Amino acid sequence: MRPLVKKILLFLSLALFSDLIYGQESYWQQEVNFTINVSLNDQDNILEAFETIEYINHSPDTLQYIWFHIWPNAYKNDRTAFSEQFLKERRTDFYFSKPGQKGYINQLNFKVDGINATVVNDTNNIDIIQVLLPKPLAPGSKTIISTPFKVKLPYNFSRGGHVGRDYQITQWFPKPAVYDQKGWHPMPYLDQGEFYSEFGNFDVEITVPSAYIVAATGVLQDAATLQELKEKGKHTADGNTKVWHYKQNNIHDFAWFASKTFIVQYDTAVLTSNKIVDVFSFYKPQSKGWKESIAYAKDGIRRYSGWLGDYPYSTCSVVQGSKNENSGGMEYPTITLITAQETGKELDATIVHEIGHNWFYGALATNERTHPWMDEGMNTFYQKRYETEKYPPTLSKKKSFLGNETSTDEHVIFETLAKIKKDQPIETSSTDFTTTNYALAAYYKTSWWMKKLEDELGRDQFDKAMHSYYSDWKFRHPYPDDFKTSLEKAAGKNLDSHFSLLNKMGSFDTTQKKSLKPAFVFNSLDNKHNYINLSPALGYNYYDKGMIGGMINNYTLPLPKLQYLAGVLYGTGSKKLNGFGRVSYNVYKRNYHVSTALSYNSYSQNDFTTADNTKLILGVKRWVPSVKLTLFDKDSLSTRRFVAQWKTFLLNEGALDFKTIYTATDTFDRVTTINNRSYINRLSLSVSDNRVLFPYSLTVSTDQGKDFIKTGLTGKMFFNYSDGKSGMSARFFAGKLFYLKPATTLVRFRNDRYFLNMSGPTGYEDYTYSDYFIGRNEFEGWQSQQVMERDGFFKVNTALLGNKVGKTDDWLMSLNLSSDLPDNINPLSILPIKIPLKIFADVGTYAEAWKENPASGRFIYDAGIQIPLFHSLIDIYIPIVYSKVYRNYYKSTITEKRFLKTIAFTINISKLKLQDVLKDIPL
Ligand SMILES: [Zn+2]
Repeated sequence: MRPLVKKILLFLSLALFSDLIYGQESYWQQEVNFTINVSLNDQDNILEAFETIEYINHSPDTLQYIWFHIWPNAYKNDRTAFSEQFLKERRTDFYFSKPGQKGYINQLNFKVDGINATVVNDTNNIDIIQVLLPKPLAPGSKTIISTPFKVKLPYNFSRGGHVGRDYQITQWFPKPAVYDQKGWHPMPYLDQGEFYSEFGNFDVEITVPSAYIVAATGVLQDAATLQELKEKGKHTADGNTKVWHYKQNNIHDFAWFASKTFIVQYDTAVLTSNKIVDVFSFYKPQSKGWKESIAYAKDGIRRYSGWLGDYPYSTCSVVQGSKNENSGGMEYPTITLITAQETGKELDATIVHEIGHNWFYGALATNERTHPWMDEGMNTFYQKRYETEKYPPTLSKKKSFLGNETSTDEHVIFETLAKIKKDQPIETSSTDFTTTNYALAAYYKTSWWMKKLEDELGRDQFDKAMHSYYSDWKFRHPYPDDFKTSLEKAAGKNLDSHFSLLNKMGSFDTTQKKSLKPAFVFNSLDNKHNYINLSPALGYNYYDKGMIGGMINNYTLPLPKLQYLAGVLYGTGSKKLNGFGRVSYNVYKRNYHVSTALSYNSYSQNDFTTADNTKLILGVKRWVPSVKLTLFDKDSLSTRRFVAQWKTFLLNEGALDFKTIYTATDTFDRVTTINNRSYINRLSLSVSDNRVLFPYSLTVSTDQGKDFIKTGLTGKMFFNYSDGKSGMSARFFAGKLFYLKPATTLVRFRNDRYFLNMSGPTGYEDYTYSDYFIGRNEFEGWQSQQVMERDGFFKVNTALLGNKVGKTDDWLMSLNLSSDLPDNINPLSILPIKIPLKIFADVGTYAEAWKENPASGRFIYDAGIQIPLFHSLIDIYIPIVYSKVYRNYYKSTITEKRFLKTIAFTINISKLKLQDVLKDIPL
């Protein structure tokens, strides 16, 4: 036994020892040199090409195969990693795109040193393949791999493709994945999550119809055309096509752009080292602010060169792309595409950010997919330094990031997410980041982390250390540890504690004590004060009429744990003082949120004019203690939630008391007001997924009052239509009521408002006062036509019936459908303001309909036109067809203006909630 243990120990120590050497001394990287011939067919948006790759194996390993990315296939169908991720980014345009807008690569025929090679498809991704080498490739040897390929260019959904006859040709050719000390890195194309590629030399010939101007990576080889572009901003061509030939060494990607309308500007940037860089700008006619683009580019190149070391290449181009929904710009070696519609300072910052990527990722070629902070975050730090130095904040304006008076919008959003534990550590892979956190942690928080590092080392030490990181790792693949080692060596200091922050969630802001500060209306742009916001308040209902008053609250971002709101409103009609308030205490954890709250409201809810013309006004006072638990999935990208909520509604309602008074000589009626106290306990459980395709929610809610228990299940789902914008929403409801005591006539009578109801639920039935009603107890006038989403949720209103159609104290079931109408058949599309139109249909049944001789038939229905206003804050429903029982009701009760009086509307105040405004904050 012992010798064996000894053997293992010896082996282990050798392995450790060689690991040490391996880590420090034997850095290697593969070399991949490309020669590509490509021609553009602008009639069919197709590239026909042939590439030859020289692959030099500098690794200590013998290779049997090489992983290749064939990324145009990411756009081939809706099952690719790109397509799946795009949906998570809430983008449906690719998923619902037409076949002509999709893209792919085909006609591949790999030969290795002239011998046909077998290609093995990756089981999960159609944009990754494995090319088997006919002969193993030994360390130190090289091989020539060639293949033709044809690319059908997609519409530019993400980073490349075409927009009309403008071409953005990126990630377009078969390209080996990186093989490094950590092994192979094959990866599918993604929208969020960038690249990792091998260095090499590129020689690319691009043939396009003569009318196009090409902007590409590298140096244009045709001296005459280069001269023409520099001097006249034009090119000449004989014949129908023109070949644009480019070469560039020490790069890992090649992109090109073609347009017939580019305006070309040229200048040189002279660096302090006397190095001269050719700077080109390609932009569209009538592009506001782009005349300055060349000056911005030059300034960026010079400043970054001073801070980090010389710009790594001899040429630099900035290209204006077609407007799309993607980020402001995208970087490729020596060339950047700017899609942001900005001018002035913002355009300057965007251009310089993208040019800055020539250092961060261009030369310092990190694995952007797994460590996005190493390129985006470090680059954002320098972009912010550029902005602060070039446009110093004036005293009158709020101070910016580097001015230390931290108060930018992104800072506030970051602090908000950190406070509710919804941020993610800087050191997170692109694929694991939520869209918001990708921007906030990989970009913003990293730039803050870099700023802290600068403060810790001092500007001179810091700049010296970054210079040595750049010179140590230029044209190589640094990992986070390499960056740390480089900095520690240059700074002569251990940076463990600073680097440990990369893996931590939360803020770097350590300000503990905050002072109280009053603010008018709403203020969130500060992290130093606890704001108390004072603001006027307005309200309206039919009984109080216009209400005016004031309120006080502490709602600011980041959200405080203890949140409060209180106000008073004076009713100009009722001459009464109403009040409202809410206080809640919140516990925010990564996987759950608990909110304990108490709220209060008082207002007028009915009126009555007596025989002697006195107006009685009835009010309500409502206290609601509640506890709400929200559970989140472990996966940060998941949009699924589970919510359990308990609420008790404590109500004190004014009601009319009719009395007949008998005196010795007379009897007369007297009406007075009395107060009724009641309560409802409500427990609701729901699961929902607010995903972009087919979002749903399922809720079971149970109400318990003095005499009854009522329980209901509500399922909702949205079915997206293939135009990507519209769809159909479906709601299903099933409910049952149980009495807690014998259901005598009296018990049934006094619980009337709690019954399950099919038709147009009105304010009277809103027994928890949870919905906003303008005139909640009106039976006449337009106010009486307001209904709410409850139970059967039919839009026809039969409020004048003593016993409404479809009202039951047993069981009830219904299905409500509401579908968008396409623009081309929407008669309102001729109006100058866009008013979408929907059609709705409801069908339902209930206990009484299954008894003998039902008055209504087994199933009742209604259907008609729905007009959503202000994103469904208000919905107007015009019933067109409905069951006979409703027709009879209308005939007998409405004698004039029958059509107008059948119209119903809902007001859904919850659409105004902060959650909907700040969708990214998963409260
Ligand atoms: Zn960037």
